[in-house]
Amino acid sequence: MPDTAALRARLDDVRRRIADAAIRARRDPASIRLVAVSKTVPAEVIRAAFDAGQSDFGENRVQEAIAKSQALADRRPTWHLVGHLQSNKAGKAAEHFQVIHSVDDRPLLEKLDAAAAAAGRRPEILVQVDLADEPTKAGAKPEELRPIFEAASRCRAVRVCGLMLLPPAVDDPNLARPYFAALRDLRDRLVADGIDASMLAHLSMGMSHDFEVAVEEGATLVRVGTAIFGERPAS
Ligand SMILES: *Cc1c(COP(=O)(O)O)cnc(C)c1O
Repeated sequence: MPDTAALRARLDDVRRRIADAAIRARRDPASIRLVAVSKTVPAEVIRAAFDAGQSDFGENRVQEAIAKSQALADRRPTWHLVGHLQSNKAGKAAEHFQVIHSVDDRPLLEKLDAAAAAAGRRPEILVQVDLADEPTKAGAKPEELRPIFEAASRCRAVRVCGLMLLPPAVDDPNLARPYFAALRDLRDRLVADGIDASMLAHLSMGMSHDFEVAVEEGATLVRVGTAIFGERPAS
């Protein structure tokens, strides 16, 4: 049995810290959505979190998420794909996730749009950006964004609604701040350049160790796992 009281206390603590960070930045706390990243977490723990008022959950594996959504069919949480998406899983992802945070090229976006249209789904999409220029990292480079957003404006099923960032891992959350601020500036520049603001409404950034800094810099979606569910088993 999950320790529901402890889970509830950790959720409340994270929500309070999000609200405090929002108020420090003169933002409305209601403008920030908490995505509880539940990868490796068993379905009954997700159920307990849902019953404690948490509606959004993030997974990084398509197959694992489908199994959990079936186990939780009586609860109907909102499922977010936060991990890298392989092109051959696009069909299943479009069918099962309401929000996909990790689209980083045009062919993948177009494949998702076709799959979503065929399945009668309208998932929300975030475009993952790589601001650190790490050769191994997922994410579109800023100069690659314009063609992606041009393709997004032609999509009929998926709805592109913002940018996602996974900054380089740093110990001090304040060292992530420049990356969060850079994503916000990039968003502002794209809007100033004429890209439809509704396609840039959201910034998905901030994890357990740095979500408060991300909220101070404009995050509207924070992806928090460990601070809610505890340490994951080493993979
Ligand atoms: C695992 C993961 C998270 C959550 O990480 P925590 O440090 O446990 O909060 C957030 N975003 C992505 C993309 C992840 O893979």
